[in-house]
Amino acid sequence: MSKRLLQAFLDLTGVVSRRWKRRPAGVYCFNFHRVGNDDGSAFHPNLFSCTGARFAEIVQFLQREFEVIDLERVRRMVCGEESPRHPCALITFDDGYLENYEVAFPILRGSGCSAVFFVTTNFVEDVEIPWWDRIAWKIWHMGDGQLRIPGVERPVTVAAADLEGSIRRVLRAVKDNAGASMAEKVQAIEGQVESPDLHSAQRRLFLGWEQIRKMRRAGMEFGSHTKSHEILSHLTAEFQRREIVESKAILERELGEPVDALAYPVGGFRSYTPATQAMVRQAGYRMAFIFEPGINRDLVAQRYELRRMSVDRNVSIDGVRRLVLSALHK
Ligand SMILES: [Zn+2]
Repeated sequence: MSKRLLQAFLDLTGVVSRRWKRRPAGVYCFNFHRVGNDDGSAFHPNLFSCTGARFAEIVQFLQREFEVIDLERVRRMVCGEESPRHPCALITFDDGYLENYEVAFPILRGSGCSAVFFVTTNFVEDVEIPWWDRIAWKIWHMGDGQLRIPGVERPVTVAAADLEGSIRRVLRAVKDNAGASMAEKVQAIEGQVESPDLHSAQRRLFLGWEQIRKMRRAGMEFGSHTKSHEILSHLTAEFQRREIVESKAILERELGEPVDALAYPVGGFRSYTPATQAMVRQAGYRMAFIFEPGINRDLVAQRYELRRMSVDRNVSIDGVRRLVLSALHK
């Protein structure tokens, strides 16, 4: 390496470490879905945020570089009773998959950290299986072939040798086409592939209430991710209100305590509206989280649109650092 290049490299790393040291005070929320060993699960590969080992590393990193806080502290901040004085981190999970209990919970407990789990109440105990997992289950059992999807012009190719890619292609085709309803598309796919019943799978996919209560007793916290994981901005006002109000009531009944945090399903800027936020407030929630990166500095003003950074693709610690630095400009 030439002297000049070396200097440029050192400058660059110096800049990065200075920027890292000067991160502003605020709440940095990190979001996970499934944590565990992505070893041939029949389900949506994109939902695996990282392995258990990587999750343990990330928790250690957050404890070293941030003050890891719990939901109670965020509650005080959104109510204006406290403001963040340095970079604080909040660990969150969406959807309520079983590995949250089997893999993430022991790691969190072992490191003395709390996290918030946003649960879709219809998924608890596998009562309902979300469309993305139902489709992935079929592709897993399909072998090689072509899937015809209503509203999608050309059949989508499925290759047993590339399950992950096949699942991604089909899910993208399903998501990108509004020509038919989700129910029609899922039904059409299910009709084309023979497979064992999903409920006969050896493993459950989602948390059960007993596991949720056990996690709560050990200091983990729970919030609503609605009842059915529909995109709220696509629903009628009455349907939205039910998703927001009833999921809260179910969680409160099962946990025996108030629940005052919600994470919008999907969570992009277009997945909720000002009317959604008003309904969330009226239902008695004190805060709501989105799925767009950024740092939360004024928590009172942002309380119904708290930003979160997505941890995915088994990102390295350097990757987490970059994720945070790029979120500073959002
Ligand atoms: Zn979700």
